[in-house]
Amino acid sequence: MARPAVSLFWFRRDLRLTDNHGLWQALTQSPVPVIPVFVFDTHILDPLPDPADRRVTFIHQALTTIQITLADHGASLHVLHDIPENAFNTWLKHYDIRAVYTNEDYEPYARNRDTQIAGLLKAKGIPFYTFKDQVIFGKDEIMKRDGKPYTVFTPYSRIWKEHNHAGKKVRFPSEKFSDRFWPTPPIPIPTLKKMGFKEVPFDIPSPHPDQKIIRRYEETRNLPYVNGTSRLSIHLRFGTVSVRELAAVASRWNEQWLNELIWREFFMMILWHFPQVVTSSFKLQYDRIPWRNIESEFEAWCKGETGYPLVDAGMRELNATGFMHNRVRMVVASFLTKHLLIDWRWGEAYFADKLVDYELSSNNGNWQWAAGCGCDAAPYFRIFNPYEQQRKFDPDMVYIRRWIPEFRAGNLPEIVEHAFARQRALDVFKQALQEAS
Ligand code: FAD
Repeated sequence: MARPAVSLFWFRRDLRLTDNHGLWQALTQSPVPVIPVFVFDTHILDPLPDPADRRVTFIHQALTTIQITLADHGASLHVLHDIPENAFNTWLKHYDIRAVYTNEDYEPYARNRDTQIAGLLKAKGIPFYTFKDQVIFGKDEIMKRDGKPYTVFTPYSRIWKEHNHAGKKVRFPSEKFSDRFWPTPPIPIPTLKKMGFKEVPFDIPSPHPDQKIIRRYEETRNLPYVNGTSRLSIHLRFGTVSVRELAAVASRWNEQWLNELIWREFFMMILWHFPQVVTSSFKLQYDRIPWRNIESEFEAWCKGETGYPLVDAGMRELNATGFMHNRVRMVVASFLTKHLLIDWRWGEAYFADKLVDYELSSNNGNWQWAAGCGCDAAPYFRIFNPYEQQRKFDPDMVYIRRWIPEFRAGNLPEIVEHAFARQRALDVFKQALQEAS
């Protein structure tokens, strides 16, 4: 039997049917029907340490939601659990694939994967089209006059905003072209169990921006005991919301919140232009810091047993929910790298395992910022005092008691004394940087 002629739309970090740029291109440009596909990539899943990974549950649920909508249109996702190369070879056996459409992904693994798949398809004469969808401005769109990438946030954000106002609101109404999918009854999605994972019930925040929270963002964003940030990070990570929709909302409702979306793009742009940040400090001289890396201290930090209430509450929030408030992320990251002199890469890796919104670019950029070694980082001698942070941002210890119900002042001894640790960090950083210069 002749293989049916189709195009594929490959979902990755854009798990939605509405306002999806690559999907819209596929549905409007492909002369043949479109099959939406997804690969549960074993290169990514196999190294995950915990079968109860909330992110895998989240992806599975997002695909199920897409599948239900597609079924209403007589179409179906095709989902395989394999390495992408094998998945494409399987689809090539069954279909006469005319083109593959997808959205760009800037992470180094994704870039290699896409080069490999594009090559595999090219050898068969099949084009591989990629589109900008995860960001408002792509990796090369906001550049300095000399054509080099920005490495400082403020001028980058200024130009970003200028371009944003110059352009009209853009939307790609992929949801209007559902009749262009390949008609087929629903094909089952591999179960979590079959893939070696457990379903983890967890509180998924709404994908809709809350106007009240965003309008009052400046007042509440630093208070971890308040529901005062959007909680949209998991949706931005997996594309269950369109960043174009959020940027439009931010431009209308709150410029400070728009800045946060710009930080996200800034770090994505940095990762694209300086992929070496994945393993080394952006400011290379910081790689000379003689980290103490005491394993028992790292373990105490991971478990939330440092004796510093705000640090411990943050780590316990992370361990219990896969989320941590941004202010507290900054405090725990500073504490690990400065008070304990543990390599920022250790903390980064722990966050990467635990965070439901884990994003390589943002995680790496913020860890390097906290350690002082990143682009546009705070100078190393700015060391957060966890007690002052607590007095300012959790004065009645509401957040602390939420995550450490047994908390009583002094019931867990401090792992290290603040003034001593501060001075030690200053001395170690200063000496290492002097030697490097
Ligand atoms: P809001 O305050 O409502 O902000 C809206 C959106 O803007 C966020 O969802 C996020 O996409 C973006 N954003 C906000 N702050 C930042 C920031 N500092 N850098 C980059 N983007 C930002 N964010 C991640 O999405 N993934 C990570 O892996 C991650 N790791 C971090 C590690 C450390 C050490 C620190 C200090 C911060 C990290 N952040 C990370 C940034 C920030 O903490 C989260 O984006 C934020 O807490 C998510 O909550 P929200 O959606 O309510 O954010």
